Amino acid sequence: MSEGISLLKKLGLLIFVVIVGLTVVIAFNTITNTPPEVITEQIAIPQIDEMAAAKRLSQAVQFKTISQSREAPVAAAEFGKMHALLNASFPTVASNLKKQIISEHSLLYKWEGSDPALPAAILMGHMDVVPVEPGTEDRWEHPPFSGVIKDGAVWGRGTLDDKLSVMALLEAAEFQLKAGLKPKRTIYFAFGHDEEIGGPNGAGKISEFLEEQGVRVAFTLDEGMVIVQGIMPGIERPIAFIALAEKGYLTLELTATATGGHSSIPPKETAVGKLSKAVSALEANRLPTALQRPVSDMFDALAPYMPTSLKAVISNRWLLEPVLLGQLGKGGATNAMVRTTTAATIIQGGTKDNVLPTSATATVNFRILPGNTIEDVVAHVNDTVNDPSVTVKVKQGGNPSKVSRQTSESYKKIEKTIMETLPDVIVSPGLMLAGSDSKHYEKLADDNYRFIPMRFGPKDLSRVHGTNERVMIKNYAEIIRFYIRLMENVAQ
Ligand SMILES: [Zn+2]
Repeated sequence: MSEGISLLKKLGLLIFVVIVGLTVVIAFNTITNTPPEVITEQIAIPQIDEMAAAKRLSQAVQFKTISQSREAPVAAAEFGKMHALLNASFPTVASNLKKQIISEHSLLYKWEGSDPALPAAILMGHMDVVPVEPGTEDRWEHPPFSGVIKDGAVWGRGTLDDKLSVMALLEAAEFQLKAGLKPKRTIYFAFGHDEEIGGPNGAGKISEFLEEQGVRVAFTLDEGMVIVQGIMPGIERPIAFIALAEKGYLTLELTATATGGHSSIPPKETAVGKLSKAVSALEANRLPTALQRPVSDMFDALAPYMPTSLKAVISNRWLLEPVLLGQLGKGGATNAMVRTTTAATIIQGGTKDNVLPTSATATVNFRILPGNTIEDVVAHVNDTVNDPSVTVKVKQGGNPSKVSRQTSESYKKIEKTIMETLPDVIVSPGLMLAGSDSKHYEKLADDNYRFIPMRFGPKDLSRVHGTNERVMIKNYAEIIRFYIRLMENVAQ
């Protein structure tokens, strides 16, 4: 009897010690997780004519360099006008940098460095834009291809995605050439013409060309992530996300087959029934959540700025990761950061109310998390559907990109440039949920980064590919200054 009590006492004491110990460790990890102390050089703010730059961007927006689809013809005449504008707007660039036209419409500029031993930097953008969704024209405050300058903004398709990169990079190059910058490292400017349809002839061919030339590349910097404010819980300051990777893309077609016939004598399950069961099963059994690079890098970078409760969870991931993943995986953008997402987008089957269809098809789109592959997803779908009369076919697919380093010299230079030119922001690695031209440079460059210092509030994301796309001129000037400084920082 007394032995039993003393054992219980010992056990109780042990549990108590463990709880106290864990509490101390959790508290310690939380309290010591503080923002890194950063000392940035005070740099002179370059004087630029913001209005003149805004007008040049406005002109670029007015060309309908639209990528409709891979099958549609290229808007050749519009790209021709765009090229002419670049030549006229940036005469010092035109006369000093070597320009190459790739696949008739894409552009590659080379700013030769003095030290051939240094691997090159490629600064990217794309000149094409997505079409305006028919029927939404009226919702634009200013017509999408007008380039209207009003209320401190340049309005129109391409002001965010992505003519502003092209124009701002050349504004910065023009500025630096005039200022006499002589880079040691070769800097390329690569501007594709078909990013919005996957970039096979633009970025795809530019990178092939550079590879043939045996060019060594330290890093590429492309569109991708931006500066956001008011999106991360508990963090007031704007956050500049440098995407280290982009998710993969996979579209599967599920086809259910069944015997046809008259609906008066139906089987227990029709093709439509089988297919809807399969789709429901996929929604109920999503791919598992996982916290891995670069999303784990992001949480590590941001935790010190978060409120204590969140910080405690993130700083003690060794213990609390399941709790964190449970929260993140619930929905929205955080779910997309920790999971290969499943989205049934099209369903078709049957033609007449009293005829049993012999087949029905569903299209399901997946965005693949780095760490998963197309094969993993297909295997998961086959296991989940688990019905021999439902076939699964890959319609379109690309694996996630590699995850670039947060520890490279190149990353540090981009980070430093952000801190020097945008001292109010926190810098963090990130994962791009959509796709970019960067994937074409994966083999060529040691690292691929995706970031433009565009400032986005919670409502601005919908302007990209949506209605009322516009950039604030003050922000556009910041972007130009960022590139001006970046060129100095990467020049050596
Ligand atoms: Zn884009």
